[in-house]
Amino acid sequence: MLNKTSESKVLRDPIHEYIHIEDQLIWDLLACREVQRLKRIHQLGTTYQVYHTAEHSRFSHALGVYEIVRRMVNEINGIDEILNEEDKIAVMAAALLHDIGHGPFSHIFEVISKVHHEDITQKIILEDSEVHRVLEKAQSGLSKVVASILSHTHPKAVLSQFVSSQLDADRMDYLLRDAYFTGTSYGKYDLERILRTFVVNGDKLTVKESGIHSIEDYIMARYHMYYQVYYHPVGRAVEAILIAFFKRWVDLTKSDPSITQRYPMFRFLLGKVELDPFYHLDESTCFAGFHMASVEQDPILKDLAERLLNRRLFGYVDVKNEDERNVIRQKVEKTYDSRYYFYQDEMSSRPYSPYQEDESLIYITLIDGTIKELSQVSNIVAAIVAAKPKDDKKVYFPKEIL
Ligand code: CA
Repeated sequence: MLNKTSESKVLRDPIHEYIHIEDQLIWDLLACREVQRLKRIHQLGTTYQVYHTAEHSRFSHALGVYEIVRRMVNEINGIDEILNEEDKIAVMAAALLHDIGHGPFSHIFEVISKVHHEDITQKIILEDSEVHRVLEKAQSGLSKVVASILSHTHPKAVLSQFVSSQLDADRMDYLLRDAYFTGTSYGKYDLERILRTFVVNGDKLTVKESGIHSIEDYIMARYHMYYQVYYHPVGRAVEAILIAFFKRWVDLTKSDPSITQRYPMFRFLLGKVELDPFYHLDESTCFAGFHMASVEQDPILKDLAERLLNRRLFGYVDVKNEDERNVIRQKVEKTYDSRYYFYQDEMSSRPYSPYQEDESLIYITLIDGTIKELSQVSNIVAAIVAAKPKDDKKVYFPKEIL
């Protein structure tokens, strides 16, 4: 049964002021251990080493995404023409659960284990977990419905659009939340205005022509947040050390199987997906592992752990080509093992792309009722789409080699 809570619950939140919970299912999902686990994972991974107040958790973000979807399904013009009560509660649950498969430190665990967080999210919702049991108890078959919204296989594509598209509740929450907690102003845009200008047109969620300016502002907010926060080189330098540490740990398991026993929190890196060990994998257990490793015999694992604990970061330089990269690599190799002490990455992202699948695009309903894709009606967005993305290739290495 999809019951209402006996009284409406409100949770304080610095972004949305209040988060309103009126459905027993949402309240029960919040209490599940897989959702509580998100309190032990930073929303912005290693960014708190750059912006020291970026300590907010994925739990607060999950609640924020839920709140935006709750408002969308209650407030958007014409929404009742396309969604029934069951759709609404399923998409609110999907919003709350969209990140439960995330490992610690953002995407670092995916890089090493090659297991994608979307796959773990599906597994948690569909298999033996507290979340699964709560969904099925509320309504038999609900877990499959929620999973299908997140995997874009629900017959009503608009439901996936709410939680995963280029104008979704996920991005709308994290831009504001990350801007607030980093203390930057780049991510700010007018959420209230966007919510007011959403309109259903046929089976699509669109934005009224009068809302174009607030959408342009939102796209610009994304653009600035990428370079000022998400792709900040110092945050990437911390990631370089995390990747090196985990790589070293995995390499050591090949010659010393006892290490797998001693560090149960890192077993997930070996690529085997089991839900119980995954539940115990969070940033608090990882830091316990770094402390243990800081007194290991292996000098590389020990050094990398100390670097992580005490913020002794790698330095970095921009490189244009392979030759410049090799010069630095050779310098590193004089003192260090470059498998762990030399890292390269390349960042590029467009804040909006009109080339993705249809349901991910932003559509505008013009005054005469016709629908146009955003970049066809906004000169600013068209210019951003046409501009060449910034070239951002870097290498990371211990500072002392220069
Ligand atoms: Ca998210």
